[in-house]
Amino acid sequence: MYLHIFSLFRKFSRPFGNAAYERVKLARVLSVQHRCKAVAAYETNGKKESLGEADPAIATLDLNFTDHQNAFKTKTTWELCRALLVLRLCSFDRLVDNSLQLFRLGQKVLGERPFRALVKPIFYDQFVAGDDHRSIGQTVSIMQKAGLTPLLAVCIEDGPTGEVGYDANLTTILDCIQMASELSKGRPMIQLKVTALMPAELLITLSKMYTYGGISIEQVAEAMYTPSLLYEVEGLPEAEIRQWCRGLERLREAGEFAQRKGVYILVDAEYTHMNPGISLAALAMMLNFNKDIPLIWNTYQCYLKEAYNAITADYATIMDKGLCFGAKIVRGAYINCEEEYAKRQGVPNPVCDSYKDTSSSYNRVVETMLHNISHCGEKCNIIVASHNEESVRKAIQGMEKLGIARDSGLVYFGQLLGMCDQVSYPLGQAGYQIYKSLPYGTVEETLPYLSRRAQENKSVLMGARKERSLLQRELRRRFLRF
Ligand SMILES: Cc1cc2nc3c(=O)[nH]c(=O)nc-3n(C[C@H](O)[C@H](O)[C@H](O)COP(=O)(O)OP(=O)(O)OC[C@H]3O[C@@H](n4cnc5c(N)ncnc54)[C@H](O)[C@@H]3O)c2cc1C
Repeated sequence: MYLHIFSLFRKFSRPFGNAAYERVKLARVLSVQHRCKAVAAYETNGKKESLGEADPAIATLDLNFTDHQNAFKTKTTWELCRALLVLRLCSFDRLVDNSLQLFRLGQKVLGERPFRALVKPIFYDQFVAGDDHRSIGQTVSIMQKAGLTPLLAVCIEDGPTGEVGYDANLTTILDCIQMASELSKGRPMIQLKVTALMPAELLITLSKMYTYGGISIEQVAEAMYTPSLLYEVEGLPEAEIRQWCRGLERLREAGEFAQRKGVYILVDAEYTHMNPGISLAALAMMLNFNKDIPLIWNTYQCYLKEAYNAITADYATIMDKGLCFGAKIVRGAYINCEEEYAKRQGVPNPVCDSYKDTSSSYNRVVETMLHNISHCGEKCNIIVASHNEESVRKAIQGMEKLGIARDSGLVYFGQLLGMCDQVSYPLGQAGYQIYKSLPYGTVEETLPYLSRRAQENKSVLMGARKERSLLQRELRRRFLRF
């Protein structure tokens, strides 16, 4: 049924989208004038809470995120239909659990071009920004008009093998930094996967060494400029030291280029067994590049029981040195793999025991970091990277309480392209600093990412259900005018 609606709506999408846009524009002007004098109030845990006398922008922000007309005003009708179709498909467990295998099978059976023709307009366009400068530029330009800033991410899911692959990835990452500096109207930021630049096995070894005190961030920071120092580190065979030297050299090149271009690097968190090695690299980069501004940020996955201790320890380490600290705060995307890995290794599962515990951990980490920001100001920045409305509401409430202005450049919000537009767009319109993570690459390169997005939409069940309902209401409004 959806496929039928899909072809029908696509044909007519532009005119409907534009007409709706004009109507909404007029309605918004009137509603802003009316609501400026209001006192902002919203519900948290069933309790009405007051934010005090509202300023014009916050009065227009619906913290229940139910204003579909406003949230989707820049979306064409085709885009709404596509989002609805994709979210619906993501709700079928068996489809999602086998999505990567199904993609691969489709590629084999249909052949490269027909498969691309099928996947591109649906899944790919929903979650991926494009595969060349022109298409990425177009996505960015539409987004920026709506008050959102791009967070570019090279789509590298399966680590490459061999130094040639890592060198090629470095070239792609430098290109990503260049593109971010050219395209972003706000502060340019990119996401960086350390496993794109050095072997995962090496990071696993380094994780163990770092955890047991066999290597320090100071040593690694120095070795980025003087690689020979690594030969003094005990416990690593020469072949791995060579890999490490090259890996650090690539990180240094990325850091130096980002510094020249004024582009902030947000280092992604990955699997627990390699995360300490990734943090070691990220913190060493902070030592080298975060003297005046938090150019390098690390990511903290709050589904991990250790998240609070990890971020508070790293924050203290960096602040004690008089440097700047940046943190991307997420719930975590590898929950299934973590459970399986822990079982295989016969170790306790590092992930919180329940979704509720993960959420408490997330909100606690954000609250603590907001307090830190209120003390140290611009030396610390965070991005609340979540689609969870409750967490976003709590962060906004915390900012209000601590007097952190929404446009201070200290606290950012982040969501993934193609997810939770009902949260991103109203926040952007209300003057919060919102980033949409924009992965890019060819259809082939992005298949593992698309499969992970499908998995995630399954786990973001409540959010996706609400988004589907809002999309349906907006489509009803556009077609049936109620
Ligand atoms: C800009 C941006 C950057 C990101 N970067 C990274 C990154 O570097 N590394 C990374 O791992 N992820 C990253 N993510 C993904 C993120 O970790 C989450 O997977 C995703 O955003 C869903 O969580 P949520 O807070 O949006 O929403 P919610 O829907 O509220 O939460 C879903 C999440 O809760 C957790 N969860 C679900 N069920 C349980 C359970 N039974 N027990 C315990 N926990 C549970 C899982 O983490 C699940 O993904 C990023 C997300 C964004 C928006």
